[in-house]
Amino acid sequence: MTDCLFCKIVAGDIPAEIVLVTDTVLAFRDINPQAPVHVLVIPKEHVADVRAVAPEHGRVLVDMIDAADQIGAEAPGGYRLVFNVGPDAGQTVFHLHMHVLGGRPMGWPPG
Ligand code: 5GP
Ligand code: ZN
Repeated sequence: MTDCLFCKIVAGDIPAEIVLVTDTVLAFRDINPQAPVHVLVIPKEHVADVRAVAPEHGRVLVDMIDAADQIGAEAPGGYRLVFNVGPDAGQTVFHLHMHVLGGRPMGWPPG
């Protein structure tokens, strides 16, 4: 998708601090980190958001979770996985992405 920020990061047109790449997913540090570890895991292919996920995305979802668990090694105390969906959740980017947050006690419930 030409007008998608995260597709541009996948294409290398916008720089990002990439931490992991596989054939299906890319992971890079969030530009505005909310925790010592804050990495975004995205499918390389454009999927708009959680609401656009379909059975054909099963493999890439597993790959995203597998990537997140590898990144989780940076946060030995544990980590939180977040999908923001819609305005109340604060979703701002419409290319599927999972936040991996850790490196401090995360608290529950979230604010
Ligand atoms: P959302 O709020 O949609 O769940 O998350 C979007 C995330 O993308 C935000 O945490 C925001 O800081 C991050 N973000 C927005 N633009 C960029 C960018 O150009 N580079 C990186 N690395 N992160 C970005
Ligand atoms: Zn995209």
